[in-house]
Amino acid sequence: MPDVFADLVGQDEAVAELRRAAAAAAAVLRAGAADRAPALIAAGPASPAEAGDTEPGALDPSTGMTHAWIFTGPPGSGRSVAARAFAAALQCTYGTGCGECPGCHTTMGGTNADVRMVVPEGLSIGVGEMRALVLRAASTPSGGRWQVVVIEDADRLTEAASNALLKAVEEPPPRTVFLLCAPSTHPDDISVTIRSRCRVVPLRQPPAAAVAEVLVRRDGIAPDVAQWAAAAAQGHVGRARRLARDPEARKRREAVLAVPRRLTGVGAAFDAASALIEAAEAEAEASVSEADATERSALETALGAGGTGRGAAGAIRGAAGQLKELEKRQKSRATRAQRDALDRALVDLAGFYRDALTMALRAPIDPVHTDTAALAGAGAQKWDAEGSLRRLEAVLACRTAIEANVKPRIAVEAMMLALWKG
Ligand SMILES: [Zn+2]
Repeated sequence: MPDVFADLVGQDEAVAELRRAAAAAAAVLRAGAADRAPALIAAGPASPAEAGDTEPGALDPSTGMTHAWIFTGPPGSGRSVAARAFAAALQCTYGTGCGECPGCHTTMGGTNADVRMVVPEGLSIGVGEMRALVLRAASTPSGGRWQVVVIEDADRLTEAASNALLKAVEEPPPRTVFLLCAPSTHPDDISVTIRSRCRVVPLRQPPAAAVAEVLVRRDGIAPDVAQWAAAAAQGHVGRARRLARDPEARKRREAVLAVPRRLTGVGAAFDAASALIEAAEAEAEASVSEADATERSALETALGAGGTGRGAAGAIRGAAGQLKELEKRQKSRATRAQRDALDRALVDLAGFYRDALTMALRAPIDPVHTDTAALAGAGAQKWDAEGSLRRLEAVLACRTAIEANVKPRIAVEAMMLALWKG
């Protein structure tokens, strides 16, 4: 296995900072071990006078290591990849993320007992989940190093969950590290008080060349396909990989990029809106249906079918409650998957109008979608720079509206009409 930071594409500055922090963290552990050593040799408890004023091996932020971190950056820039790699570097026995030792291996493989990855399945992370997490994070690390909690999409914390986390971040247990991932440090994404307790690691949108390089090296994708996919994915590493490998994902993208030339009238605009919404629903359904069925049958097995005699009625009532709870969670996850799928389509569409705009302006910038560049060029001639910009803005306004909880169908219909009228 290569170094744990190998897949963090185009983020040299962030990697250097994280390595310094991991080295500082290892030094803290060594200092802690040295402090405890005399007591072990003396075969008895150290007298209170011998104990220092500070916790042995406590974190001193000036050394580069601290208890709470926020990784920010646009989607696909590698926030969770960075957090996981840093977690591995903290558990690394030989260095700062060698990729060879058990600490690195188990963390990268998701089996390290002292590293917990929280990935929200629904629209938000609730307070119950957060309280349980904070409680477990306070226990002594079984591997003798650090308890690491990674919270992906920390911007989806409910307010109550955020408060539960804040308490832990304000008074962190000596061997606990929180790694949060969020799009930005804007108060909409992360509370100001949590932000003030964290060190921020900003990630940038990786350049297409760097994304293509990792697709070739790590995934064995042919260089020309990798270059096309990296440009089309606009710096989103995971999306680039999917486009390069999954024919279904390519088909969905082609359908989205066919929208501009299909907008020939009001009726066509509404048809295009329906098609986009339904494609997002189908994609979401495909991604969650298997997990839904597995969870339901597992819960039904656990609850036991049938059953008579005393207590059976109460048990059935309890079972109904648990099934209802599961359905609620699954519905929330499905909604999230639909929004994510729709958002990916909108980002592709925005890329098309961006291409038209840069061509109308004759800007020396490579197109996002090389395969529809000719079409975008024709649009640029017809719409000019202002018309292209208005259309790009219509797509971005649609994203913003959906984020602000406007019904997706209404937002997409308004966008399609704006794209048609210009
Ligand atoms: Zn290692």
